[in-house]
Amino acid sequence: MFPLTSLPLRPLHLPLLRSLSSSTLIPLIHSTPNLNLYSTPVTPLQMNQYLLQCRQTKTSFLIDCGDSSPDRWIETAEEGGGRIEGIMQTHGHVDHVCGLKLTKEVLGVDIYACPDDWLIFKSAPAQGLLFGLSCPPPPPINIDLNDNSTFKIGNLTIKCLLTPGHSPGHLCFWCEEEKVLVNGDLVFKGSIGRTDFPVGCSTEDMEKSLKRFCTLPSDTHVFPGHMGPTTVGEEKRSNPFLQGL
Ligand SMILES: [Zn+2]
Repeated sequence: MFPLTSLPLRPLHLPLLRSLSSSTLIPLIHSTPNLNLYSTPVTPLQMNQYLLQCRQTKTSFLIDCGDSSPDRWIETAEEGGGRIEGIMQTHGHVDHVCGLKLTKEVLGVDIYACPDDWLIFKSAPAQGLLFGLSCPPPPPINIDLNDNSTFKIGNLTIKCLLTPGHSPGHLCFWCEEEKVLVNGDLVFKGSIGRTDFPVGCSTEDMEKSLKRFCTLPSDTHVFPGHMGPTTVGEEKRSNPFLQGL
């Protein structure tokens, strides 16, 4: 079978993919009356890639692109009649961007990210050497996001929280009305993101970002870049790294 990259771009490749692809759809892991969130871990580093979809309009965005198989994400978005209209990046570490070039080529949509992380994006191929991940140079950021930037995904309003520490331009994506936070590598269930990488980390910034995380409503569902989902309240109660902030 020829690779996906040799197929003609939309819309011609979609019927072909349906007949040729043996990929499975991405699991739906969370939904509200207005939002669907699909996710599966990708790359050997088990990075949680997400597809966030407005249930009314079916407008969909990818969050972080570690997967080098964009077809299954496209098929998932299209299952209910939607399409992927953008890619938002929490940050530029290699496991979050090693599928970005291919996904951008196939979808042709804008990449939304914080420009403070661009040096991290650019160093992703070198990061890959350390972790055994092959990563082509990521394409440029098209839409600059900063602290408190907001944008729409269909009827959903996404607010960006700049939460540096793990990386300088690390973002969390907060859909306040639906009580959903996709928080990258800020907080994990019982843990937090590393701050010991040679470039771009700051323990002082991380502490401020964790304090900010703790100000969010306790019933906010949290979907991290690694490991399973949690809530703000659960992490405030039990995460040892959030005690005493
Ligand atoms: Zn990271």
